Amino acid sequence: MATGDVLPGPVVEAADLTRVYRSATGETYALRGVDLALLPGSLTVVAGPSGSGKSSLLTLLSARERPSAGELRVLGGDVAGASAALLRRLRHRRIGYVPQRASTGLFPHLTAAAHVRQVASWRRDRHADVDAVLDVVGLGARGGHRPATMSGGEQQRLAVAMALVARPALVVADEPTAELDHGHADRVLDALAAAADEGSAVVVSSHDPRVTERAGRLLRLRDGVLSSETAQSRETVAVIDNAGRLQLPPALLARFPSRRVVVEADGEHVRLRAPEDPA
Ligand code: ADP
Repeated sequence: MATGDVLPGPVVEAADLTRVYRSATGETYALRGVDLALLPGSLTVVAGPSGSGKSSLLTLLSARERPSAGELRVLGGDVAGASAALLRRLRHRRIGYVPQRASTGLFPHLTAAAHVRQVASWRRDRHADVDAVLDVVGLGARGGHRPATMSGGEQQRLAVAMALVARPALVVADEPTAELDHGHADRVLDALAAAADEGSAVVVSSHDPRVTERAGRLLRLRDGVLSSETAQSRETVAVIDNAGRLQLPPALLARFPSRRVVVEADGEHVRLRAPEDPA
């Protein structure tokens, strides 16, 4: 795989994606069989309560870790099978990543502008307009500052500028508005949406309604399982796994307190109704 290939199909394809953390005290299944495709030019938001697996999913999608089981192709590369060097090159050149704690990706000795310039050079873009990218996230006047003199919110916006410079094919942002006020959150969301409009596949995790209401596509994680999907049309789509199990969104699940359902096929529709005798 060459890292510069143009891909006609999905930027990310995941099937039965599983992530297990093992420790002395036992195993935690953070992801339990997630199927997902991300297309060029799309903005996808992954929502779900704390601990539902959002960070674990985004860490895999950005090729930072390998799945415990399942298939994962990112920009044409098989993440489970690729060498560490290939994954590093892929990340540097083609994947923008905003970590949940922005400070983890920053270098104390570099100014904000030097951070963005460094990432542009990893992406082989000598002509990137660093000042313009800093302006987009509202850091136009802070280009000469180092991380130690920037607030948490400024560091987070710098991480977004680094993720977006030189238009990577894939942008993965883990709760990128967590430290931002309304005005700056809107700016960051506008910038992420613009990247999707220009052809990047953008995936953002959040439980912030300011973010979820802007989603082109909204995926919900619950206990490591993708439970429902809402497109911008507000049509709620439930997920059927490979074994044929249907996972209803929580609002519909509440209609079936006995957890029994009658399935009726009628022409082109399949109806689910609560049984008259739930026993
Ligand atoms: P979210 O981003 O939605 O808060 P995470 O992906 O961080 O969810 O966590 C999902 C589950 O995996 C949680 O139960 C969490 O405690 C566990 N987990 C996450 N990272 C680790 C780790 N490095 N070691 C052990 N367990 C972890």
